[in-house]
Amino acid sequence: MPITDPTLLKIVESRILNKTICRKCGAVNPPGAIKCRRCRSRNLRPKRRKLGGKKG
Ligand SMILES: [Zn+2]
Repeated sequence: MPITDPTLLKIVESRILNKTICRKCGAVNPPGAIKCRRCRSRNLRPKRRKLGGKKG
């Protein structure tokens, strides 16, 4: 079921996209994370991709 409510979509979008991913182990960390919670590496990247795009 696709989400049609634009307000809800924004909330869902931000919840999915506002995360950081560890480049080392791939763990999902909170958006304000400096270190990975699993391996404590600082090699984190922000996860900011738009929804709907399948590639890139
Ligand atoms: Zn990690």
